Amino acid sequence: MENPENSSCLCGTSEYMVLACSGSCDLGRITDLVARRLRDNGVRKMNCLAVVGAGIEKSIENFKTKNILMLDGCPIDCGKQILDKAGFANYKYMRVTDLGLKKGQTPVTEDVVNLVYEKAEIIY
Ligand code: SF4
Repeated sequence: MENPENSSCLCGTSEYMVLACSGSCDLGRITDLVARRLRDNGVRKMNCLAVVGAGIEKSIENFKTKNILMLDGCPIDCGKQILDKAGFANYKYMRVTDLGLKKGQTPVTEDVVNLVYEKAEIIY
């Protein structure tokens, strides 16, 4: 897959950002691993959801200018709720349970991470 950062020639800045709920359960861990892989493969820059939760205004205003993909593990939608409360709009969203994976019953294997990654990678 072509790296959108390279194709749009943004000179080192990334307009494509990913945030993960990074929850402690299996699915939360998968969001974190997938976000890191998107970063490592140059698909999106990973940033910290905690920055938004903490209300760091300078970063929040910067994030609002980006194409954000929010990865949540389950329907509690922690990441989505944090973004919505901070006034984010029009961000891309993926919830791991929507792929049929079950919270607390999903081993964090390479195959499972690959499955989620392949869905996340093609979201623009
Ligand atoms: S969205 Fe679900 S998996 Fe993610 S942090 Fe919240 S409760 Fe945990």
